[in-house]
Amino acid sequence: MIAATPLPGQFESRSSSWQQELAAAITDPRELCELLDLDPALIDGALASARDFPLRVPRNFAAKMRKADPRDPLLLQVLPVLAERVATKGFTRDPVGDLESRAAAGVLHKYEGRALVIATGACAVHCRYCFRRHFPYASESALQSGWAQAIAAIRADTTISEVILSGGDPLSLSDRRLRQFTDQLLSLTHVRRLRLHTRYPIVLPSRIDHGLLNWLGSLPIQRVVVLHANHAREIDIDVARACRDLAEAGATLLNQTVLLAGVNDSAATLAELSEALFAVGVLPYYLHVLDKVQGAAHFDVPEARAVELHETLAGRLPGYLVPRLVREVAGAPAKMPIRAQEATDPRG
Ligand SMILES: *Cc1c(COP(=O)(O)O)cnc(C)c1O
Repeated sequence: MIAATPLPGQFESRSSSWQQELAAAITDPRELCELLDLDPALIDGALASARDFPLRVPRNFAAKMRKADPRDPLLLQVLPVLAERVATKGFTRDPVGDLESRAAAGVLHKYEGRALVIATGACAVHCRYCFRRHFPYASESALQSGWAQAIAAIRADTTISEVILSGGDPLSLSDRRLRQFTDQLLSLTHVRRLRLHTRYPIVLPSRIDHGLLNWLGSLPIQRVVVLHANHAREIDIDVARACRDLAEAGATLLNQTVLLAGVNDSAATLAELSEALFAVGVLPYYLHVLDKVQGAAHFDVPEARAVELHETLAGRLPGYLVPRLVREVAGAPAKMPIRAQEATDPRG
């Protein structure tokens, strides 16, 4: 589970404005409910579920939520609810087999040519459907060894051409820590690409500041930034600015979305999201069906329905705006595409 108290070094100096914003994030369900004029009856459940996995939402992201609307698609992603405490058959603590593909402390090597580095457990926002909500970040974060073990594992395997900084959210780390990592990484000549998996440009766009852009822009290898937005209303003028600056720093911008009941499980909502992403220079990459992590069953959309939505989307949008519908299968060689005939039929 994500550490409630940041580990040493995760949120070091609070000098930059993004670090202040991060520190000022809403973590008390009572405050969020008050701010949004929500029914106080939601508070008890929120407090109970926040004990297992704390609430965390930056104020600027909360400001995009509609007041007095408990069904707001942005709110649903972050508000702890009692349903999380219901154990559901088939929903487990490590649904994607992360720990089976561990190559070193904080390094997952699941797919050919790509190593995923768990840079930190910290995130700017706690998504309630997080598939790593039970991940042992305290012992499985690459930063714990000053990157040495992660770098050694990547150095030892010359088939790795792409390194993915993930987490948690790698942009929770200071620019200094990020640079420390890439300074070591750049000595490995078989690594041709750096990819970042981050929600910061969406939930805390001030993170995309001069320091970060200087670092990213200075890297002599290709850079890919994969964002995570689930709804068109997450994308506003500040997000647009962050995306434009990332692109100017030479990054290719992609987005991954999780299909979530009540948040984005309609073709119209998904089409709007694709359009909004493209308007800020981001291509839709993946549409993930939910990883069956304990505590997230209430977000599940049956696969047959997912396929139907995806087909409708493909009928409405240019091909480049249709994300690939995929499922994560523990032990599989890639994210698995979901096609009509394969979808599990809940009636079957
Ligand atoms: C999703 C994932 C990747 C990246 O997969 P792509 O299909 O290249 O986006 C790499 N490593 C791990 C462990 C992953 O879960």
